[in-house]
Amino acid sequence: MGIHSVEKTQLSAKGMLAKTRSVFSQVPEMKRDTRGLKSKIPLTDCLMSGLAIFGLKFPSLLQFDQGLNDDAVKHNLKTLYGVEKVPCDTYMRERLDEVDPQQLRKAFTSLFSSMQRGKVIEDYKFLDGYVLAACDGTGMFSSEQVHCSNCCEKHHKDGRITYYHQMLAGVLIHPDRKEVFPFCPEPISKSDGSTKNDCEQNAFRRFVGHFHAEHPRLKVIFTNDALSSKAPYIRPIIEMGAHFIFGVNPTGNPSLFEWLKGMELTKEIVKTKKEIIELNFYNKIPLNNANHDFEVNFIDCIVKDLKGKLIGHFSWVTDILVTKDNVHQLSKGGRARWKVENETFNTLKNQGYNFEHNYGHGHQHLSHVLAMLMFLAFFIDQVQQHCCGLFQAAVKKAGSRARFWRRQQSIFTELYVPSWEDLFLWITDRNKSKVAAFNTS
Ligand SMILES: [Zn+2]
Repeated sequence: MGIHSVEKTQLSAKGMLAKTRSVFSQVPEMKRDTRGLKSKIPLTDCLMSGLAIFGLKFPSLLQFDQGLNDDAVKHNLKTLYGVEKVPCDTYMRERLDEVDPQQLRKAFTSLFSSMQRGKVIEDYKFLDGYVLAACDGTGMFSSEQVHCSNCCEKHHKDGRITYYHQMLAGVLIHPDRKEVFPFCPEPISKSDGSTKNDCEQNAFRRFVGHFHAEHPRLKVIFTNDALSSKAPYIRPIIEMGAHFIFGVNPTGNPSLFEWLKGMELTKEIVKTKKEIIELNFYNKIPLNNANHDFEVNFIDCIVKDLKGKLIGHFSWVTDILVTKDNVHQLSKGGRARWKVENETFNTLKNQGYNFEHNYGHGHQHLSHVLAMLMFLAFFIDQVQQHCCGLFQAAVKKAGSRARFWRRQQSIFTELYVPSWEDLFLWITDRNKSKVAAFNTS
């Protein structure tokens, strides 16, 4: 089943959590908490407990807290997440609020390098050794009451203020693969600008800067939606030596579409098992009126089913020279962009991670730190889904991912689990599992 057999390697749940834990242990620890009291519990344990909430899909911190009366939960937090001292809910929130989210970046790069060593990145090569990264912003919190020093603010005419947080996320995608792997998301905060567009643009520039510093040798093509088809988004990509395939439409880039009216485009028709795809392209055309010297290559794509019914109409601009040989593959890259919305944001919002749920806001960083822990938990799950045969078998046995998460929760809160392998085996092949009803360790 598994494309790679990872049960005993660093791409296993155990291996990835150990790596994450080792990054967390390097986060500078405040010797005293905000009340001047000596820290009772190591920060690493607080961070790993936060990660466990998202890994186990507990719907709230409170529920996690209530479970702590249970010996089994304490036992399992130690065996599965390496948590020595379990923090109570309030204490954990206080400690996580102090953590500079930038300190958690290294967890993402560290897990990513495990994937490179494990050759998973090879499965995601898209065109000439390049991989695809889809980026988009999403809201993660909004309130008229609760806020912190990093909240963005929307001032209404009647004097009300809405406080909100957003995040710019980038994920590694491939048109033919279901799993997506997140890069470190970029929090969008108050200092980013006065409009939503400013904010996303600044966060994207920061994202690309970090990406280049952290993955200097990774050959990448960025795919974004049509809001990104302007020079401030494109320039940093070109400067770092990467490529782009961005959506484009007549509303955002009217002059480009005016120009095209007089041009003869090159046509290519591709027939697949399910679709007839009409591709029309034109190389070297100004991006917009403001940037006459800034030329891009244009692709128009009309997709119909085999009976001729329209499925979709897309347009992109790219810096890659479009030819009859590569136009179909480029269009697949552009169309795969929806995976950042569908496979990432929708999964985080609707499939157990409770992305928009307010786990607690804090005064400084809590909101961002929790969001980053959620992305890390999602990252680890996606790798298991892509390459852990035991995990895949357990999900299959449970019937769906949602049912699998529920099974995992009830095993975690009720039984003594010595390892991740035993947890997965308990679902698929109970006789081989060492999960026990009483603490025998
Ligand atoms: Zn806030």
